[in-house]
Amino acid sequence: MARVFNFSAGPAVLPEAVLQQAKDELLDWHGSGCSVMEMSHRGKEFMAIAEKAEADLRELMGIPAGYKVLFLQGGASAQFSMVPMNLLRGKKSADYINTGEWSKKAIGEARKFGAVNVAATAEASKFSTEPAQGELKLDPNAAYVHYTPNETIGGVEFSYVPQTGAVPLVADMSSTILSRPIDVSKFGLIYAGAQKNIGPAGLTIVIVREDLIGQTVPGTPAMLDYKIHADNGSMYNTPPTYAWYIAGLVFEWLKKNGGLKVMAQVNERKAKKLYDYIDASGGFYKNPVERHSRSWMNVPFTLKSEALDEPFLKGAKAAGLVQLKGHRSVGGMRASIYNAMPETGIDALVGYMQDFMKKNG
Ligand code: PMP
Repeated sequence: MARVFNFSAGPAVLPEAVLQQAKDELLDWHGSGCSVMEMSHRGKEFMAIAEKAEADLRELMGIPAGYKVLFLQGGASAQFSMVPMNLLRGKKSADYINTGEWSKKAIGEARKFGAVNVAATAEASKFSTEPAQGELKLDPNAAYVHYTPNETIGGVEFSYVPQTGAVPLVADMSSTILSRPIDVSKFGLIYAGAQKNIGPAGLTIVIVREDLIGQTVPGTPAMLDYKIHADNGSMYNTPPTYAWYIAGLVFEWLKKNGGLKVMAQVNERKAKKLYDYIDASGGFYKNPVERHSRSWMNVPFTLKSEALDEPFLKGAKAAGLVQLKGHRSVGGMRASIYNAMPETGIDALVGYMQDFMKKNG
């Protein structure tokens, strides 16, 4: 069967070249006589794979010295708790910016460990925009400021990095990491579940400034303590070795394909093509997000009538375009177009949308 264009929000499409390489290396990695899945995480072969993956990620993102890169488990959801447990550092409260479903989840967890000051919320706009810098009511005594640069469900992306002065900035980059260059030095901590723009589910990446770790709330379990993971090279326990290896192949693929600057150009172009078509459809298709906050990675859209949703999805599937159904909490459609979605996938989607409108407009 031919491969489909998979618009899933995650687990998401991976680069075909990476899957092919994984297939070629599946039974015998580089003459080792075994699969990466079967290797000891402390053996020299896996250690080499792990170190190369970290070095490539550091190079791609320009991660400065003084930051630890951790390869963890538990998804971004575990980070909703690990962030307050590790970064409150005896302070009373943390600032959170609320831009939608994932911010709300992060806020809910943080409230278990301390006070949360919602520094701004986009609720009044039905989460169709990001709050401007001037609207942020930041507390200079906050332990950190948390925000969600890209809300995967709402398709709302920050067009700027909030300035927080001396207060460390924490970002849930699950659905935007590696989509463009960022200045890591502006952040105290970045986290991301891997299953969107990094690799398979089961791996979670944390990039954290070294001076922020080692001051957990009393009773923090070892597995939830960044310092313990950092001191053990993310091998305090058995890490998700195969996911780590695949992430490493994705980092190599990104480097071979021009790195994050080129990714940014391609991603911007891909997103623009889709938004331009939606905007030009005379209201048949609609995206609710203000232009300056539109996500390059997740494009939600509705059809003229809900009754058309099922026929749209059925026809899309028949055309090899899958996983377009919107999140269960919002309905409609959502096209997730991460790095590994080729531009031909956008062309195929727009072509299908045009045909569908002609038949149903
Ligand atoms: N944050 C964001 C922005 C997400 O998109 C997701 C997953 N869709 C999560 C957190 C939760 O991630 P996980 O399933 O890895 O816990």
